[in-house]
Amino acid sequence: MSTIAPEKYKENASKNIADPVLQKALSGLQERLGPATENLYNSLPEGHKMRTEAHQFRRKAIDNLDVLLSTLVDKVRGHGGIVHFAKTAEEAVEICKKIALDNDVKTVVKGKSMVTEEVGLNLALEKEGIEVYETDLGEYILQLSGEAPTHIVAPAIHKTRREVAELFTEKLGTPYTEDPPILTRYARKALREKFLKADMGISGCNLACAETGHIVTVSNEGNIRMSTTLPKIHVAFMGMERIVANLEEQQSILRLMSMGAAAQEIGGYVSYVGGPAEVDHGDGPQEFHLIIIDNGRSKILADPEFREMLCCIRCGACLNVCPVYGKIGGQAYGSPYCGPVGAVVTPLLFGINNSADLCAGETLCGACKQACPLEINLPRMLLALRSKLSEGDPDWDVQPKSKGENLIFASWQRFNSNRKVYDLLLGLMRVLQHLLPAKQGMISRLPWPLSGWTANRNMKKLAPKTFMQQWREKKEKKGS
Ligand code: SF4
Repeated sequence: MSTIAPEKYKENASKNIADPVLQKALSGLQERLGPATENLYNSLPEGHKMRTEAHQFRRKAIDNLDVLLSTLVDKVRGHGGIVHFAKTAEEAVEICKKIALDNDVKTVVKGKSMVTEEVGLNLALEKEGIEVYETDLGEYILQLSGEAPTHIVAPAIHKTRREVAELFTEKLGTPYTEDPPILTRYARKALREKFLKADMGISGCNLACAETGHIVTVSNEGNIRMSTTLPKIHVAFMGMERIVANLEEQQSILRLMSMGAAAQEIGGYVSYVGGPAEVDHGDGPQEFHLIIIDNGRSKILADPEFREMLCCIRCGACLNVCPVYGKIGGQAYGSPYCGPVGAVVTPLLFGINNSADLCAGETLCGACKQACPLEINLPRMLLALRSKLSEGDPDWDVQPKSKGENLIFASWQRFNSNRKVYDLLLGLMRVLQHLLPAKQGMISRLPWPLSGWTANRNMKKLAPKTFMQQWREKKEKKGS
């Protein structure tokens, strides 16, 4: 379960960097999925055009969100579904709680859904005495162990076989084994019982289609369709941006989503949910509710600098190549959204000032944009967030982070743009550096206010001569 605490980023990151099990899991994930996804992109018969077109589809959908949402609502209602709009996380939770309480729901089975994590659904339902069971295997393991996910798509990659074996023995009372197929069988058996007794199933929505009025869920385990079809009530949570105009566009984006998420041509289970069971067709729930959630998305939509972020389909591909995520893992971000996507979405949804370290923590190397199936320009938005933190922005309630820091950088800029002052300062530093503790040409501790630089790494000493001096000397030698 995720708690929203991005202000703990540095503390969490330091802890995670020192965890050898997590480090192994993260490097394994990045070595496997990052290059595999890139290979798939390169093998696309449609070539690079497919990604550019998909970006345009998403952009067009976001630019026409009002029209598409209204078409979707009419279609869903036409299929017998009930549509709710929630402006805030609290409203979304209240709507779901009311449906559950009105129908005397005691047990809920829930498919993997980021947006339900975002609104804190599980806790709210549990407070009402309702049992909630995660049904994605990774999420189920984390629910049993009371931990937050490490990855958007592979939430429990940090758990070893031994840890899962011990957890199942303790919580499910199963005989100890570290054999993955047997452990999976234990989880399946435990979950089947929950599916059969559940009164309500909850799912997310990977993408809704305005043209047809159905939602799509994608998974590799097939458990989501048990949540959406077995219980008498199905409630689907949808971020208001997760919509496309028509089936053709949906297919193309779903294909890219699977490539980004798991380096697959298409996910194992792609389910189209079009409302409650029909009178002459016995399958499916008796009630279908779609909760469309804003929770800060309208504000993102209204800002041209960040509107592109609403194109995101939460595939997690950017995590699989990010050098920062690859060291600190998802739990460090203190948000359901981690990695480069989390470093942009978390500040926009939960406050820019308290997520300042997330924006500053990324390297701006551009790997995320390259890996993103929709080529979303995360580095550009990270820079925009940093600029807001530096200058402040009343529209986003941002206080300038540190006036002192701005002053330091303004002075730095002035010194650097004046050749004489720059050379003078460099010469001075070259002399003063001998007073600092150093080993093998590396300074191990800088004085305040630069001490942060050497808190976790050493700094190379300045060379005895600058590049320009060496260049001049070489030229003179050649000439003589
Ligand atoms: S930013 Fe791109 S790569 Fe990252 S989760 Fe969103 S769609 Fe996927």
